Amino acid sequence: VYEAPAFCGYPIDRASLKRREAESLFDASAAEMIVLREGQPLLTPPGADGLMRPVRLTTGARNQLFGAGALTIFLGIDADDAPVFAVDAGRANPTADGELLEGMGTFEELRAAAMRGVPDGDLALIGTAKSILDWHARHGFCAVCGARTAATEGGWKRVCSSCNAEHFPRFDPVVIMLAIRDGKCLVGRQPRFPPGMYSALAGFIEPGETIEEACARELGEEAGLFTRSVRYVGTQPWPWPSQMMIGLFAEVEDGPVNLDPEELEHAVWLTKEQAAAALSGGASLDDGSRVWAPPRLAIASALLKAWSEE
Ligand SMILES: [Zn+2]
Repeated sequence: VYEAPAFCGYPIDRASLKRREAESLFDASAAEMIVLREGQPLLTPPGADGLMRPVRLTTGARNQLFGAGALTIFLGIDADDAPVFAVDAGRANPTADGELLEGMGTFEELRAAAMRGVPDGDLALIGTAKSILDWHARHGFCAVCGARTAATEGGWKRVCSSCNAEHFPRFDPVVIMLAIRDGKCLVGRQPRFPPGMYSALAGFIEPGETIEEACARELGEEAGLFTRSVRYVGTQPWPWPSQMMIGLFAEVEDGPVNLDPEELEHAVWLTKEQAAAALSGGASLDDGSRVWAPPRLAIASALLKAWSEE
């Protein structure tokens, strides 16, 4: 069974029609603001359930800590009708961190925090905020004319101060797939992976390509495989900095695996039993080596689990 991985399951109404009035919602007494600094969320210490959660500030606290002009993104309206925002805390300020944030929480590296334990819904909010704030940080100037741009509509748009061009947050679609044949699936490893870890193959979709064509091209380029058919499984927003992971199963034809050594140093075919073992502690292969799957954080883990159970 496919289970959506981390960063899926946005927990509130995105309320996109209210973005034009987002600034007027700052002053709602119920407004809540999560905080990120250079991609790191401000999280509480672990609670009784072992989970860390985003610190939620009032608008007054935001103004006091980071200034009323701090870039603030409208994330939506929660079930209690409270508007939810994300604040860019700017660059590290040891004085403010030490005195003002004392006792609230700490800025945590997102991947490590997610591995240790953050509720899925909170991860979806944090991931969205991280992607949008990263986009703002990289788009201070107009790609058309080079003049300064300014954020508007709750942070979901930037407008050029000179030519009035409108710029919208972008994300990059990526295909990530398990090649499948004869009851086995292919996983490969990049040299940068931790020892023994293997994952699904992946690559960016190019302009003018369909998802299926990108999947077939990547399996051809990276592994020398010919794709017969492609099946959609699920997607995951991945906030490093802003990718849309499109998870697929690809039936491939018989033939040798020819790896592109620039991309992959090794690849192995796993049976369903081996895939299940790789997800829970490691699988032993015939040659005595051990294979590990990526953590649950990654969609590759969800793909392996779904395939091993079908
Ligand atoms: Zn411009």
